[in-house]
Amino acid sequence: MAAKKIRVIGGGLAGPEAALQAASFGCQVDLYEMRPIRSTEAHQTSDFAELVCSNSLKSESENSAPWLLKQEMRRANSFLLQDADATAVPAGHALAVDRELFSARVAARIAAEPRITVHREEVTTLDENDPETLTILASGPLTSPALTAELQRLTGADHLAFYDSISPIVDATTIDMEKVYFAARWDKGTADYINCPFTKEEYETFLDALVTAENIEAKDWEKFPVDGTADNLQYFEGCLPIEETARRGRDTLRFGPMKPAGLTDPKTGRWPYACVQLRQENLRADSYNLVGFQNHLKYGEQARVLRLIPGLENAKFLRYGQIHRNTYIHAPSLLTDTLQLKQHPNILIAGQLSGVEGYTESIASGLLAGRYAAALANGQQPTPAPRISANGSLTHYITHAADGPKGTKKFTPANITFDLLPLLEEELRKKIRDKKERHKIQCDRALVAWSEWLSASQSSGSPQLGKL
Ligand SMILES: Cc1cc2nc3c(=O)[nH]c(=O)nc-3n(C[C@H](O)[C@H](O)[C@H](O)COP(=O)(O)OP(=O)(O)OC[C@H]3O[C@@H](n4cnc5c(N)ncnc54)[C@H](O)[C@@H]3O)c2cc1C
Repeated sequence: MAAKKIRVIGGGLAGPEAALQAASFGCQVDLYEMRPIRSTEAHQTSDFAELVCSNSLKSESENSAPWLLKQEMRRANSFLLQDADATAVPAGHALAVDRELFSARVAARIAAEPRITVHREEVTTLDENDPETLTILASGPLTSPALTAELQRLTGADHLAFYDSISPIVDATTIDMEKVYFAARWDKGTADYINCPFTKEEYETFLDALVTAENIEAKDWEKFPVDGTADNLQYFEGCLPIEETARRGRDTLRFGPMKPAGLTDPKTGRWPYACVQLRQENLRADSYNLVGFQNHLKYGEQARVLRLIPGLENAKFLRYGQIHRNTYIHAPSLLTDTLQLKQHPNILIAGQLSGVEGYTESIASGLLAGRYAAALANGQQPTPAPRISANGSLTHYITHAADGPKGTKKFTPANITFDLLPLLEEELRKKIRDKKERHKIQCDRALVAWSEWLSASQSSGSPQLGKL
C-alpha cells in the first residue's frame, strides 16, 4: 500500500477520475464533495460527475484532436470515459451521453471502490505542509468562495475570472415537428439533429428581438475585476452568449451558430436562410438542447425570444440559458508539468481550475493528476505525459502558455486542438499539403508515444515512475 494518503477535493469530472485512478494504483483516497450541503450556481444535483450544461464530450471523428485525447484516455483506462461510452446517446460524430445514467455509473464505481472514502462536506482549508498527505484540488470553475480565498492565500497570485454561459433545453413533446426536420450537416453521420429552418423574414424578426431583449444584471462577485462596472464581464470567445454574437453584425449568427450550410430542408430541397439545431439530451429523447444558444437574457425574455424560432412557438423550456462564473489559476506561473504547485508540491491542481477547458479535458487532467499523485504517494517522481501526445500537449499549453515572445501574462483556458500539438517537421509539412493527412501523422505519433509512456509505467509496477 502507498505510504501517503491522497485527498481529492471535488466530485465533478476531474475529481472522481483522479480518485479512481489513484485508488487503482493502491492508494487510500479521501474524496470530498460539498454538494448537497452547499451547491454551486450551476449544479442541479448532488451527483458525482454532473454535466452542468451540454451532454457532449465532443468529436469522435477519427484523427480529430478531441478523438485523439479520448483515444489516449481509453488506452490509459479512464474510468469516466468507460462510463461515457457505456451511456452514449446518438449524436452523429460526437460522443454525447445520457447525463443521469453517466453520473449513476460513476457513483456506483466510487461506491464499489473500498480504497475511496467519500466525505460530503465543504473543504475550506488546504494544508500545504502536511507531509503525509497529497491533495488534488479539483473543485472546478465554481470553487466555493472560502476555498477560493484559501487557494489565493496559497498561490499568492491573483485569480483570473471570466464568464461562460449555458444553453436552454426544450421539452421534445412541445416541438412542432411539422415545421422542423432531422438532418446531419452535409449528410455526414446519422441524422440525429432536429433543424429549425428560418426564412429571411423570420431571421430578421428573431434577430431584432434578440438584440433588444433584456439581459440579467451581473452580480458584483461576477464582475472582474470587481470594480462595479458590468462592462468588465469577460466572456470566453469560444462560448459567447448568443445575444453578444448577434450584436457583432446582422449576418454573424448565420455564419456561426445558426449556419444553414449543408442542412438541406426536405420540403424545399434547399438550405434554409438560417437554422437552429437541437441536439438530443438523453436516451429517452424527451428533451433537446439548443446548440450554441448559451445566453444571458432574463428568463421571461428567453421564453419570448426563443419562441420566435420556427417549430418552437409553443415550446416548454426545461432549463433556460444562464451565465456563470469561471475561476481558474494562472497555471503557467504556478504549475509544474506534473500538475503540482511549484511552491507547494504536495498540492496538485486538476480539471477546469487548472486552466483546461471542457468536460473531456477536465477528466483527462484528473486522470493525469490521479496517476501523478499515486506515483508521489509511492515516493517516486512522476514522469510527465509525453509532449507529443494530446494529454501532454494540453498540459504543456497550460504550463507554458505565457512563454510568448513578449512574455505575455494573459492566459485563457483551452480545449484540445491541433494548435496545441507540436508542429510536424518543416520537411514533412512541405511534402504533405493535405491537412487531414498531417493530422493523421500527428495522431499516429501521439498514440505511439503515449502507449510507450503507459507501458513504461506498467512495467515498473507503478504509474509513471521516473528518474529521481
Ligand atoms: C455553467 C457551466 C457550463 C459549462 N458547460 C460546458 C459544456 O457545455 N461543455 C463542456 O465541455 N464544458 C463545459 N463547462 C466547462 C467544464 O467542462 C465544466 O465546468 C466541468 O464540469 C469541469 O470539471 P471539473 O471537475 O474541473 O469541475 P466540476 O465538474 O465543477 O467539479 C468540481 C466539484 O467541486 C465541488 N466543490 C467546489 N468547491 C468545493 C469545496 N470547497 N469543497 C468540496 N467540494 C467543492 C463542486 O460542487 C463540484 O462538484 C461548463 C462550465 C460551467 C460552469
